Amino acid sequence: MDNTINVQHTHVSLKKSVDTGGLLQQSIQCFVHVQVMDDQCYDLCTKLVSQSYIQQGKQAKLVHQKRIKHLLQHRKLPEDGWTDQTIELLLQELSVMDSNNFPDNCGVGEREARIFSPLVATRHYRFGHGIGRSGEITAIQPKAAGSSVMMKLTNSLMLDVIKISGIQSAASCFIVPMATGMSLSLCMLTFKQSRPNAKYVIWPRIDQKSCIKSMITSGFEPVVIQNCIEGDELRTNLTAVIEKIEELDPDNIVCVMTTTSCFAPRVPDRLEEISEICKKFDIPHLINNAYGLQCTKCTHLIQQASRKGRVDAFVQSTDKNFMVPVGGSIIAGFDAKLIESISKAYPGRASATPTMDLFITLLSMGSQKYKELLKERKENYQYLASKLSEVASKHAERLLKTPHNGISMGMSLSSIIVKEDKDVTEIGSMLFTRFVSGTRVISNSSTDSKINGLKIINFGAHCDKYNCPYLTAAASIGMTRTDVDTFVTRLDKVLKKYKSSVGSNCDVQSVEEKTSNNIP
Ligand SMILES: *Cc1c(COP(=O)(O)O)cnc(C)c1O
Repeated sequence: MDNTINVQHTHVSLKKSVDTGGLLQQSIQCFVHVQVMDDQCYDLCTKLVSQSYIQQGKQAKLVHQKRIKHLLQHRKLPEDGWTDQTIELLLQELSVMDSNNFPDNCGVGEREARIFSPLVATRHYRFGHGIGRSGEITAIQPKAAGSSVMMKLTNSLMLDVIKISGIQSAASCFIVPMATGMSLSLCMLTFKQSRPNAKYVIWPRIDQKSCIKSMITSGFEPVVIQNCIEGDELRTNLTAVIEKIEELDPDNIVCVMTTTSCFAPRVPDRLEEISEICKKFDIPHLINNAYGLQCTKCTHLIQQASRKGRVDAFVQSTDKNFMVPVGGSIIAGFDAKLIESISKAYPGRASATPTMDLFITLLSMGSQKYKELLKERKENYQYLASKLSEVASKHAERLLKTPHNGISMGMSLSSIIVKEDKDVTEIGSMLFTRFVSGTRVISNSSTDSKINGLKIINFGAHCDKYNCPYLTAAASIGMTRTDVDTFVTRLDKVLKKYKSSVGSNCDVQSVEEKTSNNIP
């Protein structure tokens, strides 16, 4: 048993993990002062309870200390997930280091992390200062050494996770308390600073409103590149990208924004080729990797693109990839300086909540469980494909062939439409009332939509006209085989009911009403 681990040792590594040049000193003094149970305390305990029992209790505590010390030294995802008790011990020790928790602290500033409600204080483990300083979101906060340690550690764990996920040469990342769309805006606005004339964003079409808003709200003009239909797949039109760049002049272009994770039948963009184009024309390349971190098809593309050409940053959602509540995203890249410039563009301090949610989740999960979840997801994708395929052939439909998309898949809804004016998207609503969420039904009737002033034909389909109507489903992290089974059973019932309703020429609505008691 390694008895040399003690409180002081932990502090030494703590100090090293945040380069503060003595800023942590004050808090560490306080930490030592408030520190739970040192050797002397244990000695005093032996006057109350027999020495051997106290010794045993001390040994148990060493297990927690050892894990914490290892984390601070290596700053990588632990292989085995931690127990909640170890995680809570660390969170308590870190929050004790923040000035709002200093005993006798006298705050006379306008922001002193006072928390009115004990419920709120508990919900945040008494962290109140958020992360960052006014000048930079990844800067350490002198008033909050504990929060700063947590932020630095979480960013470091996240970089490890990104590498484990398949982007081995990622150099830097940081967690932002804004969802993906806002983080894409932050990246583009940072690129703009060194490209004063730029106002266009070259954007291979992906029908997701936050993507469009990320450009328009930032004051940029999206230049829509229509996708090519290749077999069943919708893929990047590289020729059109090059033509647009030449037409508009590279200097006027903020970046090319590509997308990895997307609804089938669209597949991830041709990242390698785009990154080469961006390198050739000296244009920043921003990748929307919203839920792509969980899929090696997406991560390998990003890794390869960075080898072949230019990738400035890739952005992913925290909730979609790590099963935490919505609220954060991760901005990552291959050049630490560039990623730092994006973190410096963030105005002001930021909520620590998405960071803490990830800190807790990653420690609780550990690398082994994370890899297991990724593997299960891949297996569930295969399982979903085979089950959906069965249901499809039962109804004279088929699974769309979209081998480049490793998360989402589509099933045709061609024969199911008997009457032209029948709204196939009804199937989506019918599934939703049966507690199936996340599917999308796309009809192929082209209607114009205006999304934030941008005219998009047939919005939702990623193209103006697709070969057939279809329904999509995705296998994402945390999904179970039971979810798949339940989904296909309910889908089968819904399709039967829908067909009987169109067959008998009556309204789906009325069939729905007649049978609304036997849901699902
Ligand atoms: C989820 C998602 C986004 C962004 O959504 P946020 O709500 O901003 O996280 C953007 N693009 C795609 C493809 C997405 O799936």
